[in-house]
Amino acid sequence: MQRKHYDAEHIAFAEAVHTFLDKEVVPHYLDWERDGITPRGVFAAAGRNGFLGMAIPEQYGGGGIDDFRFNQALGEQVAYAGVTGTGLGITLHNDICLPYFLAYCNDEQRQRWLPGIASGSLITAVAMSEPGAGSDLSGIRTSAVRSSSGGDDHYVVNGAKTFITNGINADLVITAVRTSEEKHRGLTLLVLERGLPGFERGRNLAKVGLHSQDTAELSFTDVQVPVANRLGDEGSGFGQLVANLPKERISIAIAGLAAARAAFDQTVAYVRERRAFGTSIGSFQNTRFVLAEIATEIDVAQAFVDQCIRALNDGELTVEDAAKAKWWCTELQGRVVDRCVQLHGGYGYMVEFPIARAFADARVTRIYGGATEIMKEIIGRALPL
Ligand SMILES: Cc1cc2nc3c(=O)[nH]c(=O)nc-3n(C[C@H](O)[C@H](O)[C@H](O)COP(=O)(O)OP(=O)(O)OC[C@H]3O[C@@H](n4cnc5c(N)ncnc54)[C@H](O)[C@@H]3O)c2cc1C
Repeated sequence: MQRKHYDAEHIAFAEAVHTFLDKEVVPHYLDWERDGITPRGVFAAAGRNGFLGMAIPEQYGGGGIDDFRFNQALGEQVAYAGVTGTGLGITLHNDICLPYFLAYCNDEQRQRWLPGIASGSLITAVAMSEPGAGSDLSGIRTSAVRSSSGGDDHYVVNGAKTFITNGINADLVITAVRTSEEKHRGLTLLVLERGLPGFERGRNLAKVGLHSQDTAELSFTDVQVPVANRLGDEGSGFGQLVANLPKERISIAIAGLAAARAAFDQTVAYVRERRAFGTSIGSFQNTRFVLAEIATEIDVAQAFVDQCIRALNDGELTVEDAAKAKWWCTELQGRVVDRCVQLHGGYGYMVEFPIARAFADARVTRIYGGATEIMKEIIGRALPL
């Protein structure tokens, strides 16, 4: 189906991202997958090309255009290029972390952080999850106690986070901490900067997929964080997280749907060439039916996602619609990559084939950013039952 969602500038932006990924990422991607991390220089290169901080005002070095279709175009190109592991760090930086900085920084913080976020010299992460708290953010135990010992007004932070994307590379970690025992109003967001004494990175975790993505443990032992690093008011963290999670979920939906489309395209190309029983695999009715179903599901989902992006741009995307997009597109991604592996036969299980990596990379999207079950809870709670 022809999409009329993008204007000429989005299409030009997508083409520029494609060229960038082709030159700067694709040739090195398998090395980074083996290394378990993407070099920091990729962020700087993306920044130089205008692919970071598109929504940051120009006075701070950003693109000055708050239009999520640019984020969407970038997320799609990452999936089409088959470099999801590297791309996740960049989309997390742009789609998920940056909105917190834009919405909650005061003037001093904007000047301190936004130029580096736009250039890629400051890589960002968001640390909510803890060993004992994932789906239920009210279970966060990392504590921050206000103190003015030594003359400086600061928080003393103790605790641990896990599963943090960009965890090794990050310079600025938006960290959800508990400043009081009140279940929701006890949460506050602090930005922990690289190098603070007592702020340590733990293991870069070994994962099933997304190998070039550093997903790490973080620990905090009596870390003194200046009060000037707090985002917004003390006690407003839960509300800030809830307000920003729809953007996180739509970003994951975009990536999931684009990954499904990439898997479909790869499979169409493969079944045209591969032969069995004297004919191409693509000529079997089963193959045509499977691919016809996938083509339909992708186009239908795309219409919903594009509508969500327009609502987001208009400030009207609801928590429920973002949850619908997230669970639907990631479950679709899972079904599609599985069926596409099947049509690749044994080659689909070989890591040198992009479809095999897509299969491994896909599994987590139904879990992170809120598991499918949590999305259904959010949607169900809003129904007039
Ligand atoms: C690769 C990766 C990257 C990640 N990146 C980040 C990051 O950058 N920052 C960050 O803060 N976190 C990150 N996470 C953490 C991720 O968001 C959590 O793993 C996710 O929210 C689920 O939390 P959990 O793992 O503690 O699972 P749990 O909360 O223990 O849930 C386990 C399962 O129980 C079920 N379940 C839970 N609650 C309910 C319920 N109410 N109703 C029905 N079923 C339920 C679901 O099936 C769920 O999958 C990442 C995780 C991974 C794997």
